[in-house]
Amino acid sequence: MTEQFSPQWSQMLREAVEVPGLLLKAYSSFHGYSIGNQLLAMVQCQTRGIEPGPISTFPGWIEKGRHVRRGEKALVLCMPLTFKNRDRKSDDDPEHFLGFAYKPRWFVLSQTEGDPIEPPTIEAWDRSRALAALNITEIPFDLTDGNTQGFARKRSIAVSPLAALPHKTTFHECGHVVLGHTEEADFNDGELTPRSLREVEAECVALICCETLELPGAEFCRGYVQNWMKQGQDSIPEQSAQKIFARLT
Ligand SMILES: [Zn+2]
Repeated sequence: MTEQFSPQWSQMLREAVEVPGLLLKAYSSFHGYSIGNQLLAMVQCQTRGIEPGPISTFPGWIEKGRHVRRGEKALVLCMPLTFKNRDRKSDDDPEHFLGFAYKPRWFVLSQTEGDPIEPPTIEAWDRSRALAALNITEIPFDLTDGNTQGFARKRSIAVSPLAALPHKTTFHECGHVVLGHTEEADFNDGELTPRSLREVEAECVALICCETLELPGAEFCRGYVQNWMKQGQDSIPEQSAQKIFARLT
């Protein structure tokens, strides 16, 4: 039996917003995992006093010539899983659906012994590769308003040639696309995420990207999100936080 594990994503996002450097540490320690899993691993390492570092499964460590020390408890991470659709009634219904589960299967380097391992190399961020991976196209900035930094429409983004921090605006606009805001505006007029919340969600994406990639601008995002949280909303709603972590991989 695995114990029920349900992380508080809003709490984790709040910590990521409030503690400068946390995202970068999580990113450099647990590179290769989704941002959500990086923070999950980070939080567990902190509460259990484990030195953050590369992680792998039990058999994964054996492959690298190391073994998990006796008595070490695994970290819980979120795993995507394919489930069989039991309610399937006709050929039109999908045979499988995607879901996720929290499984205790990962161990940090400092929980293992054996051969030394090579430090992981982290690939540099590449704008066009990132946009292609997200299926987002860049369109010309056709607004004459000098104050607008950028905009997002459907799966396209545009960044003003006058934008103060073009990469930050890129992340913010991509955030709008990835979080479904540009779809909502077209298809779901009744239940729009409030505009201020949409902006905060997109800015959280920009913060996560600027900070993990060590690009300037994180402090502006942090200021924006914290300012918003002060205005009566003491935290980012759990639903927003879940959405951000689910779509940022
Ligand atoms: Zn925006």
